[in-house]
Amino acid sequence: MHPYVGNIHIHSTYSDGHKSIEKIALAAKSAGLAFVVITDHGNLQGLPEEGYIHDVLVLIGSEINTTKNHYLALNITEPVAQNDSDPQQVINQVNAQGGFGFIAHPFEIGSPLVLNNAHYPWTHWDAQGYSGIEVWNWCSQWRDGVRNILQGLYYSYINPAGPITGPTPQAMARFDEVTQHRPITAIAGSDAHAWPVCKGPIRRTIFPYRYLFRTANNCILLDEPLSRDPVKAKTQIYSALRQGRSYIVNNLIGTAQGFSFTALNQDNQYQIGDTAPLEEITGLQIQCPSQFRGRLTLRVIRNGQLLNEILRCNVTLRLYEPGVYRLEVYCNKKPWIFTNPIYIV
Ligand SMILES: [Zn+2]
Ligand SMILES: [Zn+2]
Repeated sequence: MHPYVGNIHIHSTYSDGHKSIEKIALAAKSAGLAFVVITDHGNLQGLPEEGYIHDVLVLIGSEINTTKNHYLALNITEPVAQNDSDPQQVINQVNAQGGFGFIAHPFEIGSPLVLNNAHYPWTHWDAQGYSGIEVWNWCSQWRDGVRNILQGLYYSYINPAGPITGPTPQAMARFDEVTQHRPITAIAGSDAHAWPVCKGPIRRTIFPYRYLFRTANNCILLDEPLSRDPVKAKTQIYSALRQGRSYIVNNLIGTAQGFSFTALNQDNQYQIGDTAPLEEITGLQIQCPSQFRGRLTLRVIRNGQLLNEILRCNVTLRLYEPGVYRLEVYCNKKPWIFTNPIYIV
């Protein structure tokens, strides 16, 4: 497999972000990313710039809706009308264009210190037809964790990753619930804006793009190397995302190069996002880079429940039951890797 790491859910100067797409691509290049997905609010103004910029594949989507029910729409070519109170209409319009999308920051609560407590939760869990959930939004989680000025100072200047705990438990629970019925994809989003914050003694950019591009990213697994033709490359990235052939990786902990989570039986090896038949010797194989030895906790989740907690770097687990299997990896108890499921039937 060919892994490619990229960042999803980014705002540029075409909405309330503070850098141009070209500068964002430069920041992504310096962070070593292969691709970025820009999702400006309610417009596709960046579309003419889609393609390789500074060697980074820049893809243009849009974040739709304003007061609640934010939806990250990808692979669309026409703007989609906002509908905060009925996001099903938004999802349907995106799908009608051949697009797909993700429910964004569904459980954020906001902070009294940032944007006057603004928060934009998802309220329509009966919606159908979305492709996945942004289970971890870095900026949302940071804001949610800043409750007073002292915390604001500490988390702005000394320990910016302090409030970061990994995917939001309520969002993961929803994800696990939905994947019992149909495959969807879990992603991490940065929600990068590079916001200037001026509150009392705090004067700081929260967070610069180059910082966020080294935090929670999405590693896409491709059968073939990523094409140099931007149209083909876009199809490769988007197909993998739709199929859940990806995992979330928190690059503040380290690169996941050498990591794999696969299912094996007599003849075949199945990747994240695949559906595999249960046979007599079906096993789950987990391999982590050896430099992390002694620091990792592997949590194998089956149908939303913890199946095994393993303090090892490499392991093969025999499977006896069908189920939706996914993996969480913590390094020194910090959140590192969160895979999409392998579906054993
Ligand atoms: Zn949003
Ligand atoms: Zn956003």
